[in-house]
Amino acid sequence: MKYGNPVLEKPAATVTVFDDELRKLVADMFESMYAAHGVGLAAPQIGIGKRIAVIDTSFKEDPQAKLELISQETIHTEGTQTGSEGCLSLPEFREQVTRPMRITVRAQDVTGKTFETTGEELLARALVHETDHLNGKLYIGYISALKRDLMKRKIRKLMKAGEW
Ligand SMILES: [Zn+2]
Repeated sequence: MKYGNPVLEKPAATVTVFDDELRKLVADMFESMYAAHGVGLAAPQIGIGKRIAVIDTSFKEDPQAKLELISQETIHTEGTQTGSEGCLSLPEFREQVTRPMRITVRAQDVTGKTFETTGEELLARALVHETDHLNGKLYIGYISALKRDLMKRKIRKLMKAGEW
């Protein structure tokens, strides 16, 4: 789902059922994310309004870097970092976005077990970015009004051309 689809701007629903369907969805999300060369994907991005996200900042290099995050919530953030950020729902665009340098989140895995994880730098950026998706927010909300208008204008043009 690209920017403009209302599912991306609605808060997602909490997951209450941990079954095979959920495991299948999470596996599909990893596949879609890798296919799109992303390091994170949230369920609203594939049109599903549920609090589910997957992240792999190692992009298949490190199996332990694969994170399945069900109903994640932020517990603590620290510091700031400013860097280039992209989003699979805003293809071809990248902007400088300021994010926390370190973040701790609490989430459940696909079996419903609660865990906490802390990420720094790129992982912190991915964790905040995906949490935002679950709250119906996109990074376009954090850039200057001038850049945002420019981006929206480009997107409108692409929409008219049938390329968005
Ligand atoms: Zn995104």
